[in-house]
Amino acid sequence: MLKLRANDMANIMGKNLRISRKGKETRARREMQEARIYKIKFDKNKISNEKLQKIKRLFLEGKWFTNYMMAKGINELVSYKDYKIRKVEVKVKDAFENRELNILSSQMKEYLITRLQSNTKTIQTLNKSGHKTGKMNYIKALHSIPLMQYNNTYYVNKKRKIVRVQGLGDFKAIGLNQMPDNSELTAADLIERNGDYFIHITAYIAKEEKVHNKKAIGIDFGIKNQAAFSNGIKVQYAIPVSERIKSLSKAFSRAEYNEETKASSKRRQKLRNKMNKEFEHQNQQKIDINNKIAHYITTNYQYVAYQNDCIHAWEKLYGRRIYQTAIGGLRDAFERKANTPTEVGRFVKTTGVCMNCGKVSKLNLSDRVFECPFCKYVSDRDVASAHIIMTKGLSLWNIGETLAEDHASTSSMLRYMNNIPHVKASISKEARSPKQADAAEAPPVRTG
Ligand SMILES: [Zn+2]
Repeated sequence: MLKLRANDMANIMGKNLRISRKGKETRARREMQEARIYKIKFDKNKISNEKLQKIKRLFLEGKWFTNYMMAKGINELVSYKDYKIRKVEVKVKDAFENRELNILSSQMKEYLITRLQSNTKTIQTLNKSGHKTGKMNYIKALHSIPLMQYNNTYYVNKKRKIVRVQGLGDFKAIGLNQMPDNSELTAADLIERNGDYFIHITAYIAKEEKVHNKKAIGIDFGIKNQAAFSNGIKVQYAIPVSERIKSLSKAFSRAEYNEETKASSKRRQKLRNKMNKEFEHQNQQKIDINNKIAHYITTNYQYVAYQNDCIHAWEKLYGRRIYQTAIGGLRDAFERKANTPTEVGRFVKTTGVCMNCGKVSKLNLSDRVFECPFCKYVSDRDVASAHIIMTKGLSLWNIGETLAEDHASTSSMLRYMNNIPHVKASISKEARSPKQADAAEAPPVRTG
């Protein structure tokens, strides 16, 4: 008897040692990695009817379980047997009925509880600090199920384009190849949105090496050119509201709903789902464009300077145009990705400053081309601003003198930008800075 116990102890100690060693190894590895969330969609056309009923049932069981836990009170330590519970009471009108939990696994229950507990804690903290928050209410639907352990609650086969979910089986998935081959998958969430199913996977991937080439670029954001760069390249893009959204919203406004109960008809709900999907698709297009532009710039330039423009204020003036570009996302992407992002203050004057002699003159809003009255240097309005932004940015970092010459050919940047769907890139016909001009490509500098 005693011998067995000693044996057990040795096993447990061995296990703890293994876990702590593993923890150290993981921490060391994480330093070389960064976390990304990949949003993978299940191909709904390839889900059998039987499986579709099962996945719907899973979300239903998740809702029942969540409401059951909330009724029990989530504050105290939740007893272990709740993780294992297979039957819950559900309130139907005024009576309670029993419901079986057939698909929701113990692990899913465990992490639904953890999530509820952390939500409760957040609300309590907010309340204590005087924020007004609503009470946690019973939920009408659950839209996300935690899948905590890779290889246990879910599994991915990139080659076969399959995601396997515990208790549900395999799903054909779209977009798995966004994940690099060496990514390390961790927790995920199974998501239901507008009748579609997704899995959001947190993966650790090798950190991208940031550039150390001492090259700098300035960017001017705008309404006409979404971005003008100090090297003379101007980029325009817009995703106009699609015809499909227009026709859907027409149909939506005509679809009936009950004036008294405010209840939507089935058709109206369906139309709303379709509209949401289309909006999401369009938003994703804008995000992709911003990320691609930012990727090129931040992998080719160490110093990226832009102005802290008040893009929110632009929205009021040029609402639709700003909406179509999601230009704020572009600035955020530069800030996130650049080795050394530099923000030039909002009130620093960047228009009407000559990029050749540095003197300031008045520039009308409608002037797209800027001719300096002092030195007669001609430049594109936005490119000149981008150039000033770059110079101001560099002075903020005090690195002006050690800067590397930008010999990178503008033609490769032009080609890259023009290959992004919906993006039109051009090089300003007016002169660029004489210092930066790339003789083979730049038009000769006009000087009066
Ligand atoms: Zn000048």
